[in-house]
Amino acid sequence: MGLISDRLALLPPSPTVAITDMAMNMRREGRDVIGLGAGEPDFDTPQHIKDAAVAAMRDGKTKYTQVDGIPELKDAICRKFARENGIQCSADTISVGTGGKQVLFNALMASLNPGDEVIIPVPYWVSFAGIVQLVEAVPVFLTPASARLKFTADELAAAISPKTKWLILNSPSNPGGVGYGAEDLTAIAEVLRQHPHVHVISDDIYEHLTYDDFTFATLASVAPDLQDRILTLNGVSKSYCMTGWRIGYCTAPPALVKAMAKVQSQSTSSPNSMAQWAAIAALDGPIDFIANNRRAFALRRQLVCDALNAIDGIDCAQPDGAFYVYPSIAGLIGKTRPDGQVIASDADFVSYILEAGEVAVVPGVAFGLSPYFRISYAAADTVLAEAMDRIARVVATLK
Ligand code: PLP
Repeated sequence: MGLISDRLALLPPSPTVAITDMAMNMRREGRDVIGLGAGEPDFDTPQHIKDAAVAAMRDGKTKYTQVDGIPELKDAICRKFARENGIQCSADTISVGTGGKQVLFNALMASLNPGDEVIIPVPYWVSFAGIVQLVEAVPVFLTPASARLKFTADELAAAISPKTKWLILNSPSNPGGVGYGAEDLTAIAEVLRQHPHVHVISDDIYEHLTYDDFTFATLASVAPDLQDRILTLNGVSKSYCMTGWRIGYCTAPPALVKAMAKVQSQSTSSPNSMAQWAAIAALDGPIDFIANNRRAFALRRQLVCDALNAIDGIDCAQPDGAFYVYPSIAGLIGKTRPDGQVIASDADFVSYILEAGEVAVVPGVAFGLSPYFRISYAAADTVLAEAMDRIARVVATLK
C-alpha cells in the first residue's frame, strides 16, 4: 500500500512548478530574472487597513473566532453586496474563509459527490480544475469558439448534462481578462432557467479592476430569481491589495453556508482574527485608491498589449479586466531556436524566453488553453518595458 492517496494521483502536477523552479534556480545563480508570473497587485495594503489590524491586535482580538467569520465582518460583507452589487443578503448567507480559494474549496467539498460535473470555461484559473479533481468530481471544460475567449449561451447549453452541478463563472477572468457584462449574463441566466439543477459560482474577485467601456455586472443582481442557486465569491486580496492577509468570502444559500462551515471547522477553523477586522476596515472604508490602482493598471495593460502586438507571431487581445494578458503565440509554433530546438508548444516558448531573455511567465497549458501564455502586468512600468524588450529580442532570434 503506497503512502500517497489515490485521490492525489488524480491531480496533475502543476505545469507552473517547473518554470517557477527554473526561475528560482536562475536567481540563485545571480541572474536578473523578471518575474511576471505572480497573480497579485504590486501595490501595498493601504494604511487605514493596516491600522485596523494593529488596533485589533492591541484590543486583544487575538483569539479564535466564529468558524466562518465574525458577525461584524459578515454585516460589512452584506453592506458591500447591497451597496456595490445590488444583492440583498443576510448574515446566514455569508461565509468567510482564509482567502477566496478556501471559500471555493469549502463550497466544492461541501457540495460535490464523486462523478458530479462542474463546467469550467477555458482558459481557467488553475484552482478551479484542481479543486474539482481533488474532490473526485469531473471538470467539464467549456472551450469558446470565439477568438475573444468568451463562451456563448449556446455553448453553455451544449455543455450542460444531467450530472452538471455547477458552472464556474469568473468575470473579469484570470487568465483571459474576459468580462461578461449584464447583457451576456442575461443570456446565460436564460439558459440556467431551463436547467434548474445547475448552480453557479460567480467568482467576482476582480470586480474592481475593469477597463475601457466594460461595466462589471454579477449574475445574482442581473437574475435575482436565480439567487438561491448562486454562490457569489469575492475577497479582499485583489481589489484591496491584501493577498497576504488571506480573507475571502461569499454569499450563498444558507444550507450550503452551514455545510461549508462544517468543512472549515475540520480544517483551518476560523480565518485570522486580526485580518477579519482589517477586512471590515477595507470594505467599509474609502475606495478612491482602487480607482488610482485601476488607472495605473490600465496604462500598464496598454503598454504590454501594444508591445506584444508589435512582435511578429504574437497576438494579444485587450482584456476587459483583472491584471493579466493572455496572448496567442500560434504564429511562433514550429519556429526554430538558434540551437536548432523547435518551439513545439507554449511550454517550450516560455522556457526559451526564461533561458534566453530572463523573463518568467506562465504557459497557457497551465490554464487549459494552448498555445498562449499569461503575463501578469502587476509590476512597475519600467520593469514591464524592459520585459517586453527582452521578449521582443528573444522572439527575433526564432527562424
Ligand atoms: N479567484 C480567482 C480567479 C483568482 O485568480 C484568485 C487568486 O489568484 C482567487 C479566486 C483567490 O484569491 P484569494 O485566495 O487570495 O482570495
